[in-house]
Amino acid sequence: ATVGVLRETAGRERRVALTPDGAGRLRKQDVSVLVEAGAGSRAWFGDIDYEGAGAVVVTREQVYAESDVLLCLHPPEDVVAARPGQLLVGLLGPLTDLDLAQRLASAGITAISLDLLPRTLSRAQSMDALTSQANVAGYKAALLAAEAYAGFFPMLMTAAGTTRPAQVLVLGAGVAGLQAIATARRLGALVTGYDVREAARADIASTGAAVLDVSVPRGDGEGGYARTLSEDEGAAQQQGLDAAIPRFDVVITTAQVPGGPAPRLVSGNALAGMRPGSVLVDLASTVDGGNVEGSIPDTRVVTDAGITIIGAGNLASTVPAAASTAYARNLLALLTQLMPRGEVVLDLDDDVQAAVVVTHGGRLVNPRVRAALA
Ligand code: NAD
Repeated sequence: ATVGVLRETAGRERRVALTPDGAGRLRKQDVSVLVEAGAGSRAWFGDIDYEGAGAVVVTREQVYAESDVLLCLHPPEDVVAARPGQLLVGLLGPLTDLDLAQRLASAGITAISLDLLPRTLSRAQSMDALTSQANVAGYKAALLAAEAYAGFFPMLMTAAGTTRPAQVLVLGAGVAGLQAIATARRLGALVTGYDVREAARADIASTGAAVLDVSVPRGDGEGGYARTLSEDEGAAQQQGLDAAIPRFDVVITTAQVPGGPAPRLVSGNALAGMRPGSVLVDLASTVDGGNVEGSIPDTRVVTDAGITIIGAGNLASTVPAAASTAYARNLLALLTQLMPRGEVVLDLDDDVQAAVVVTHGGRLVNPRVRAALA
């Protein structure tokens, strides 16, 4: 089979779906690889590197025309150029873009979206692109916070005196939050973590960070995710956090609830209690919400009180080589299963494949996407 790599069309996206290393690994499995010219350039992977790995660099039209499998991160804006029967693999977001899912179905494209992966299946872990990218985002969130903070993260003992380490609070300790905790600790900050899920509290403790207790009932939902808290629980959480947050210099928030809005964890009250020079990084920031009151995606706001609020956008894209490398490994793990002898063999009885295949044979076959449409 022939695998094609498209250059990302989304605005400031710097990642690429396959690295030269990934291309080389596919070549070893007797798979041909076509790469759109310049596809990796914003992640510092040159056309020449792909060629060195045995791939052929071609135009976008040729990638569409000659590939059996198309690899991407975001859905390509010209996805209509794909042919019936072609397999498109990416993070397509079909649960939030139902229109795209329907268009892919009627175009006869077989679409696989890695954001539908059953994450708790151990067989699926090597393909888990949400995890690999959240890990990059959590790392970068800690670096952004350190860069914007007016003090040092570590305690430094110098001839000019000893500095106090920064007090960092991480709210939401899933994949991104745990990596933010680990990174801030490596920089020498005193780190505290908080999450509503019971298991996440143990995860925080295992990193060596302190665990914040705000006396809210455990908020475990399905599939290892959190649930939306009830109004009373949310109010109790808000009160506990309002009291705790002002003693921190840096707050990094990563809290998400599947299928719902991100919970508001840092209120105007909490912000009002924080010292000038404090920094917040909101990884859940969206145009209509986020974990931090007043956060705006891709924007750094300094309030009148001297508090910096960084609304993170697509942070994984800002560490493009590492993020692309991890994503390419996720795709390779998937392709190795899909193409056991170099040709694509779909098996919708397989639990991993059944979960990630969105459209096939002109139909929307995915139960979760179908349920979202109904
Ligand atoms: P996520 O992005 O959905 O949410 C981030 C964190 O926010 C979660 O830990 C969640 O509990 C927390 N949160 C939600 N509401 C909150 C609130 N009101 N207050 C405080 N925290 C709140 O989560 P994720 O990073 O995608 O991970 C979700 C789960 O999936 C975790 O249990 C993770 O370990 C699990 N997971 C498992 C595997 C695996 O088994 N291989 C792989 C990846 C992820």
